[in-house]
Amino acid sequence: MEAIHIPWLLKLPEQTNEIQVNELIAGLETLTPVRGRLKVRHQGNYLEVSAQAETIITLTCHRCLQQYNHRLKLDASELVWLDESANQPDDGPLERETALDDLVETLPPQGYFQPDTWLYEQLCLAIPPRQLCDQQCPGIQVTDTESASPTDRRWEALEALKRQLPG
Ligand SMILES: [Zn+2]
Repeated sequence: MEAIHIPWLLKLPEQTNEIQVNELIAGLETLTPVRGRLKVRHQGNYLEVSAQAETIITLTCHRCLQQYNHRLKLDASELVWLDESANQPDDGPLERETALDDLVETLPPQGYFQPDTWLYEQLCLAIPPRQLCDQQCPGIQVTDTESASPTDRRWEALEALKRQLPG
């Protein structure tokens, strides 16, 4: 997905660019390409971004630690504010950290919107925090027989010893 030059959107019908998405997203391990669509509309002092997409990812069950496939569905929208102050030169890690503290997404009005970065972030947010291969997952199975037998043998030895002792 190519970066969108924000002023270019103003020349489009309804100031809207719709992208058909059918590709792997860098940094996100998925079994299938991310498929769907992403819409960016220029609303003057902000961008209205929305996407419907889905893909399949492999998750690890928090209970039994088995891997399983999960269909990740995305239906997200966000407003990205256009602000000249977002255009200031990057003065290093300290400045970047301060910018990250801003909860509101901001871009310079003459800058670029990165659809793949946005999609990546939204998909990461859509990954369930509680990952279970099945709602009924019983967790890690421990078989009784193996763990019990050494103990049993110790008890048997003790019983045999008791029998040998004069009562
Ligand atoms: Zn499980």
